[in-house]
Amino acid sequence: MALKLEPGAKLVVATHNPGKARELAAILDNRFELVTAGELGLGEPEETEATFEGNALLKARAAAKASGLIALADDSGLSVSALDGAPGIYSARWGGPEKDFKGAMDKVRQRLEEAGAEDYSAWFTCALAVAWPDGPAVVVEGRVDGALVFPGRGERGHGYDPIFVADGHDITFGEMDPDAKDQISHRARAFAKLKAALL
Ligand code: IMP
Repeated sequence: MALKLEPGAKLVVATHNPGKARELAAILDNRFELVTAGELGLGEPEETEATFEGNALLKARAAAKASGLIALADDSGLSVSALDGAPGIYSARWGGPEKDFKGAMDKVRQRLEEAGAEDYSAWFTCALAVAWPDGPAVVVEGRVDGALVFPGRGERGHGYDPIFVADGHDITFGEMDPDAKDQISHRARAFAKLKAALL
């Protein structure tokens, strides 16, 4: 049976971040009725898997099971080639409870310097998972490749945006117009795949 999402379907987004839910609704062209896991009072499962796809699936499955609704979840992060893919799935955790990404970016720089790295290539990954309460699920992944620059530049983004320059560009994601970033980002690429799979 092909898994399809009908327009107007009610989806639970496995996030407690209302900003993220709005962003996801916009990317989905407001085709669905969205409610967040936070609004439903659902807990946040521990991210125990070793991959972006694994953690996205774990979050979607937990929200679908707890709510009885079709659930959408994401997991994303920055991977640095010379650091064997770190911070990777630990990208959010490197920011600590205060979400201190200035500190996290300093840590990336320090690790690269300690390693004497010459290769500053890196990539962002976004995994998206949709899970149905009765078990089936779909998971996709999008990626954007680039290189890190220090010091970081730009105030427009979030997380690690100030230190990331996508291949073919010379401004950082932190300097880029958000709509322009949305054209090329890991998240946009993952959503294109998800739409192709489900809509
Ligand atoms: P998640 O929301 O738990 O998947 O955490 C993803 C983390 O990866 C965020 O806290 C950011 O630090 C980082 N990240 C993911 N996508 C981006 C991006 O587009 N720009 C900058 N940082 C990102």
